[in-house]
Amino acid sequence: MTRPPVRDDLRALEGYHSPQVEVDVRLNTNESPEPPPLGWRDAYAAELSRVEWHRYPDRGATVLRRAIAELHGVGEDQVFAANGSNEVLQTLLLTYGGPGRTALTFEPTYQLHSHIARLTATGVVEAERTAEFELDLGLAQRVIAEVQPAITFLCSPNNPTGMVETEHSIRAVASWAPGLVVVDEAYGQFAPWSALALVDEETPLVVSRTFSKTWSMAAARLGYLVGPSWLIAELDKVALPYHLDTAKQIAGTLALTFVDEMEARVARVVAQRERIQAVLCDLGAKVWPSGANFVLFRFPRRGNAQLSGDAIWQGLLDRSVLVRNCASWPRLDDCLRVTVGTEEENDRFLEALAEVVA
Ligand code: PMP
Repeated sequence: MTRPPVRDDLRALEGYHSPQVEVDVRLNTNESPEPPPLGWRDAYAAELSRVEWHRYPDRGATVLRRAIAELHGVGEDQVFAANGSNEVLQTLLLTYGGPGRTALTFEPTYQLHSHIARLTATGVVEAERTAEFELDLGLAQRVIAEVQPAITFLCSPNNPTGMVETEHSIRAVASWAPGLVVVDEAYGQFAPWSALALVDEETPLVVSRTFSKTWSMAAARLGYLVGPSWLIAELDKVALPYHLDTAKQIAGTLALTFVDEMEARVARVVAQRERIQAVLCDLGAKVWPSGANFVLFRFPRRGNAQLSGDAIWQGLLDRSVLVRNCASWPRLDDCLRVTVGTEEENDRFLEALAEVVA
């Protein structure tokens, strides 16, 4: 048998993986440490028992989209929903990227922006940030003028740095970009400001969000974007028919009736984030200021190999604490990223870390 060859441009591509290891304390994938409220679970179970399973779902996910629109004070026709914000990004790239077009990213940033761009045969230009991972506006303006990207990606708070873009930066990039600007706000509710206010019918700018983090629903795979209605109409043509199943539409719609609980969870995570950052600094780590539910840090080695990112990651794992090892990623030498957990999980992490770096 000769195996059919995959697309030439995919042959060298690696898949995207986050190692899943059995541990006591799992702080590597930026999930919410708390489940959704019990009231949500009960309401969801009750609604599920009424589903007409022999029927296709509401193709336009109208009830869910209306609920999201109400949450953000925008029109229903300004909301597009999909199976996780990754599928939102994929739909954007299928619609506005593709062969002969270029997507621009500012690295380091969320790896799936460039990865999904490549999967959709969109060209990728990875521009640099400053050594402190900030956007260099002078460079950004030059690269945008040179590359003329069909899509420019920003991520705020940025993954894996946690840093929040300023409104000034996003407005500036949007004013220079000839195509679409995507602001990925997967961690938007943990940050002090949101680019949602910049969305209007005149600007080719969208903001994507997810139910995976703040809404404690990573298992549901639900994300959405807010953008101009004419853009949503184009995305609706590209999304597969009935791409959002009925159960997911119900799950998302019901989640939005528990806003107070979500905000309380976010406040707890933010308080724990501040605590983790403070202790990391006390332990001698370099910590980047985070507006997300995770913190990027690194220990200056000063010739001590025990303080390398790999060594610390392994030391934590030996103590059954799993964080994200970014040490081998470009530009992130020795860096680790820890997701904010429950108070108890954070205790375990900080105690283990203190032992490892002692
Ligand atoms: N954007 C960013 C910046 C992320 O970190 C993630 C999750 N790791 C996503 C999007 C995708 O989230 P989901 O597909 O679960 O909505």
